[in-house]
Amino acid sequence: MKAVVLSTVDNLALADVKKPKPGSKECLVKVLACGICGTDRHIYHGEYPSAKPVILGHEFGGVIEEVGPGSKFQVGQVVSVDPNIVCGKCLDCKEGRTAFCPDLTALGVNINGGLAEYVLTPDSQIYPVRNDLNPLHLAFIEPLACSIRGLDLANLKGGEKVAILGGGVIGLLVVQLAKLAGASEIVLVTRQKFRRDVALKIGATRVIDPINENVDTAITNMDVTFECAGSVETFKQSQKITRRGGSVIVLGLTASDATLEVNPFNIVVNELRIQGSFLNPLTQARAAELVESGKLNLDILISKVVDLSGVKAILDAPPAEGDIKYIACP
Ligand SMILES: [Zn+2]
Ligand SMILES: [Zn+2]
Repeated sequence: MKAVVLSTVDNLALADVKKPKPGSKECLVKVLACGICGTDRHIYHGEYPSAKPVILGHEFGGVIEEVGPGSKFQVGQVVSVDPNIVCGKCLDCKEGRTAFCPDLTALGVNINGGLAEYVLTPDSQIYPVRNDLNPLHLAFIEPLACSIRGLDLANLKGGEKVAILGGGVIGLLVVQLAKLAGASEIVLVTRQKFRRDVALKIGATRVIDPINENVDTAITNMDVTFECAGSVETFKQSQKITRRGGSVIVLGLTASDATLEVNPFNIVVNELRIQGSFLNPLTQARAAELVESGKLNLDILISKVVDLSGVKAILDAPPAEGDIKYIACP
């Protein structure tokens, strides 16, 4: 079968590899769609740890091609896959903090993933969806699950005012989730005009261009701010625009060695809650159901669809201005 294999740092190629055979309680999934994301770029260049060689791709779904002994699934079922495999037995797992499982491994990071014709998937990671779901929407379930984790942590209440810093796929999914959650105001901040226009079509009540407007004064008193840009600058802004007693939910990843100065006094007297949000613990099933419901506008987020031979060119270039989501369909 064809697969996008990272053999060493900076060495990525479309290769012919052996089609795997499902073992006990495993399925062989024929991939219908796999998202290509920023994490894949980081893994490609050695900025995010991974196994090597490894087949990339952690945002995927497909149709079950073959089932191993004892599997509870059937050939022909369309499924979404949660790439993060945890032990289910350690204290963190048992208490619902599965993202911190010391045995966490991920399809497309430590073991072979979805940028391939087929992928071996443990039963524990499989979430069936409607067989007539648009296959491209399978690529959104994992990033949506990460966004829903952010919503869970925000404890957003109806009528609250929300700001979202960053207009990538996570930011634009959070815009739609905030709308569904009943936010009274949804302000999106992003440099790219195309992304601001998309945000207005899918639920943002206001958009801000941070190059031409001063974010710190243009937005004030937000109940919840979602930091989805992953920069020190937006992290600082998020604390200034959030109301006293409000929450900052940090979904964006900065470089692992980025630092900044904080003012502890302001955090105390403003009772500011700064809360990180990591991976998709216990949210994949809800993400799959929400995608199935058709309540999200996902098509507007798709910038380009390629086959496996087009993946390397996408990862070799920086994301083009205005582009939001790239998807590979093997
Ligand atoms: Zn991703
Ligand atoms: Zn565990």
